[in-house]
Amino acid sequence: MSKKTNDNKYWVGVDLGGTKMLVTLLDQSFQPCGRKRKKTRGQRGKEAGLSRMIDSIGETLEDGGVAPDQIAGIGVGCPGPLDLDSGIVLDMPNLGWKNTPVRERLEKAFGCPAVVMNDVDAGVYGEYRFGAARDVRCAIGVFPGTGIGGGCVYEGRVLRGKTGSCMEIGHVPVDPQGALCGCGQQGCLEAMASRLAISSAAVAAAYRGEAPNLLAAAGTDLSNIRSGALAASVKAGDKVVERILRDAARLIGWTCAGVVNMLAPDCLVLGGGLVEALPDLFREEVDRSVRARVMPAYRDAFEVVVAKLGDDATAVGAAAWAEHSQK
Ligand SMILES: [Zn+2]
Repeated sequence: MSKKTNDNKYWVGVDLGGTKMLVTLLDQSFQPCGRKRKKTRGQRGKEAGLSRMIDSIGETLEDGGVAPDQIAGIGVGCPGPLDLDSGIVLDMPNLGWKNTPVRERLEKAFGCPAVVMNDVDAGVYGEYRFGAARDVRCAIGVFPGTGIGGGCVYEGRVLRGKTGSCMEIGHVPVDPQGALCGCGQQGCLEAMASRLAISSAAVAAAYRGEAPNLLAAAGTDLSNIRSGALAASVKAGDKVVERILRDAARLIGWTCAGVVNMLAPDCLVLGGGLVEALPDLFREEVDRSVRARVMPAYRDAFEVVVAKLGDDATAVGAAAWAEHSQK
């Protein structure tokens, strides 16, 4: 065995978002041993962004005392359409990244194999390997945030489309007359039940004087009504806000019932900032509404659990997928 093979003991995971990037260095058993978080500074364009990502990885290695030739692989999770086989990010509007060869550039910079995948898929894979859905046959992840992300790990593999990712649960149509969606359609689940939809309804309630605690703490500026503000409002007794949240969770549950009927998963994992802020409310409401709607044969065949890995899920999951891809 060559020395190089012996020394390739670390993995790198990158969570590349529209506003921030998180680089995590992991040891052989995927324990984090270094971490760096930076703003992506999308306005500076594609080349600057790529360099910034490569520099961040380099700095994380340096801080951890790890040489580039000790890296076994790099996994990147990011939103937006991808070509999974070539590792090209087709578009990330926030970053101005069109047709960006992320995989090729990382492989050139660090001399090891790299993979690029959807960020939600990476998060669900992280939960499957190390978190709330460990080693289950079929795990469906649902992550309500600004949108509603979905992913599926099926018998150890991330379910995917021919060229890109799949499981866009946020864009399952749930109401033919529903609100307009960012994807150009209307009545998609995420147009009705994402954090943005919930916050908009909560702002209206605050404005009408029906959510006094929310009004006092966060006002009526939509950009202030984030998951923490919603959770605080419920805790302080704003019944209308609680109802808006429970209605949204129930709609998510109903939509999941359709997915359960199609894939018969053993585990539904709920994650993301909103679920982290209100884990009991979401778990209860989704659990109840899925079970009320699925076919009887599936009613007791699955669990509804809350994600465990938090902010690390995407980076850790992408790194673990890089490992899986080398088998
Ligand atoms: Zn949509």
